Amino acid sequence: MTTVEVYGSRVRQARVLRRMTSKAVMAELGWKGARQTRLEQAEVSSLDMEDFLRVTEVLRFPALFFTTPPASRVDAGDLLFRAPRATTAGEKEYLAQFAAVVGDFLDGLDSGWPLPPVKLPVVDASTSISSAAELVRERMGIDPDAPISYLTYEAERCGIPVVQRLRRSRSTGALSLDPVDDDAGLSEKHLGYSTRVGEYGDRPLVVVRASASWERMRWTVGHEIGHLVLHAGGGEVTEDQELEASRFASELIAPAKAIAAEVPKVPSLLNLVPLKLKWGISIGALIRHLAASELIEQQRYEMLRRQLYTRLNPDTGHTWGKTEPGWDAREPERPRLISRWVERCYGATTAAMLAPHQLMWPQDLLEDFLAGQRPSPNRGTPTAIPSSQSVSDGGTVIAIDRFRQRRRA
Ligand SMILES: [Zn+2]
Repeated sequence: MTTVEVYGSRVRQARVLRRMTSKAVMAELGWKGARQTRLEQAEVSSLDMEDFLRVTEVLRFPALFFTTPPASRVDAGDLLFRAPRATTAGEKEYLAQFAAVVGDFLDGLDSGWPLPPVKLPVVDASTSISSAAELVRERMGIDPDAPISYLTYEAERCGIPVVQRLRRSRSTGALSLDPVDDDAGLSEKHLGYSTRVGEYGDRPLVVVRASASWERMRWTVGHEIGHLVLHAGGGEVTEDQELEASRFASELIAPAKAIAAEVPKVPSLLNLVPLKLKWGISIGALIRHLAASELIEQQRYEMLRRQLYTRLNPDTGHTWGKTEPGWDAREPERPRLISRWVERCYGATTAAMLAPHQLMWPQDLLEDFLAGQRPSPNRGTPTAIPSSQSVSDGGTVIAIDRFRQRRRA
């Protein structure tokens, strides 16, 4: 009888990513007792071919996924985000396993074409937030007094891939980051999470929820970089650490020292707009930042904040807090590293074009990895590599065509 060696943690990952309970999986498989749990907890188990094929069918993952050892290990406790109270253990586990499989996918890309080296520093608790932000700017090669035109791009150049989660994910149909209270002002902090992935846990990863607000997308990336730099020790993120990451984001995007001279004598929502647009920071975040940096009085901050969240923007019918002046001045930033590397390694520009490579990922999960990525500006006509040009190397399919990439200007 033919048997197949299956990695328990892969079975668990597939089940969690499909948002299925062990009970539901067992019911589908007609298994009894604790068979599913035993399978998931064992490092490797032998399944006879018939059972194995049923497992791949029920979980809708390619066979190769279950027979490939996992490299990234991410637990819910490794996630750098302050989970809203309503977040269930199952959702946290989902976010952790999503990060883990993205990590393995990135490993595959890295072996095809080295990812940008990680230049992001890690600082200890004695470092001030402004010094930490200054250090990150230095590593990014950005002057201390220059606006950052495209923060997501700088993050990716610094070795931090960014994955965007759409409101409805392809692989699960549901989005697991919590609903956002748009007028709460502090809601930005729930829009993303970050962690470290890879065999040695040294590749930072940021996952952000897609948002129509350019101010929010950009600031969320800054906030997550803050966690990665300030809170690398991991563990449950505290409310104080949330505030630190938020202060970091504002300081990275608009260093207090650099903007001090540009703050109007009597700041108002309208005369702060040029500052907002120059530095690319929401007025909501900017006034908090100005107050925290003692560039405006607490009293003025309270007043501006009140105005922001009560006055209506006549163009949108929402409060200025939701759609601020300048809300439509830019397009939301989008990541590009993953799509760029998929193109480099596989000659593919869509998830569908990866199908001939017979990777270990289901199509809908590949679509999640590539969701919301922006296409390369200098993309030529893409050429798919036929599967005959892929080789199987120790269970992992890698493209051998990468050396034949056309040169691009
Ligand atoms: Zn946070």
